[in-house]
Amino acid sequence: MARHGGGRGWYGKLVGAALGVTVLAVGASVWTAQADPVSGPSPKATASAAPGGDSEQVDVSIAHASEAGARGVNITIDDGPDPAWTPQVLDILREYGVKATFCVTGIQAQAHPDLVKEVVAAGHRLCNHTVSHDVTMDKKPEAYQKKEILDAERMIIEASGGVRSMYYRAPGGAFTPYSRELAASRGMRPLGWNVDTKDFEQPGADAIVATVQREIANGPTVLFHDAGGDRAQTVEALRRVLPWLEEQGYTFGFPVR
Ligand SMILES: [Zn+2]
Repeated sequence: MARHGGGRGWYGKLVGAALGVTVLAVGASVWTAQADPVSGPSPKATASAAPGGDSEQVDVSIAHASEAGARGVNITIDDGPDPAWTPQVLDILREYGVKATFCVTGIQAQAHPDLVKEVVAAGHRLCNHTVSHDVTMDKKPEAYQKKEILDAERMIIEASGGVRSMYYRAPGGAFTPYSRELAASRGMRPLGWNVDTKDFEQPGADAIVATVQREIANGPTVLFHDAGGDRAQTVEALRRVLPWLEEQGYTFGFPVR
């Protein structure tokens, strides 16, 4: 991890942290190693021309770092958009001047194109989170993975009015070398996370905030959800954790591509 921001930066925290974090650092270097060309047939050969403008090949490795640098934090919001919760999340992000990355599913994007357009208009970035959010897609045939990713790409471009997803996040982190290469060939950088707030399990806003405070030393990409159930705790946690991060000297940005 290129986190050498001095003793007070990420690197210092990693060095000073417990064994579990050391293991994470080893994992990160494995991901770096996966940046080498993936063997096997290339999906580029079969991918048709993309609607919605040019797509440029991006790196196939799973991104965690922030464009905002050593003190950058990437807020990522998954599984929406949802008419009950996405507008509330957008309000809080606007209030604190935070730009986030929304990992939307094809189904939700198609159902709520107005919300996708609002997300884009507010300056946030889109991430392809597949059509149907199948967390076992890494066990499925390549043709299935391809359909989940490319159909979602089309559905999101239609919903957004032509704006492309800049990232691809596999549901539940179920990436495969094939899906990463396919996404990267379409200009979508595979996107991981470092801090899982577990807001999906509704542990209470206090617990969600505490998880961010405890684990932000692990890395800059934080996972929240704006759909899939009652997200009142997520909304409350964001309202508290965004100013806390700011007070700690963090800035907000987008994941690297
Ligand atoms: Zn998800």
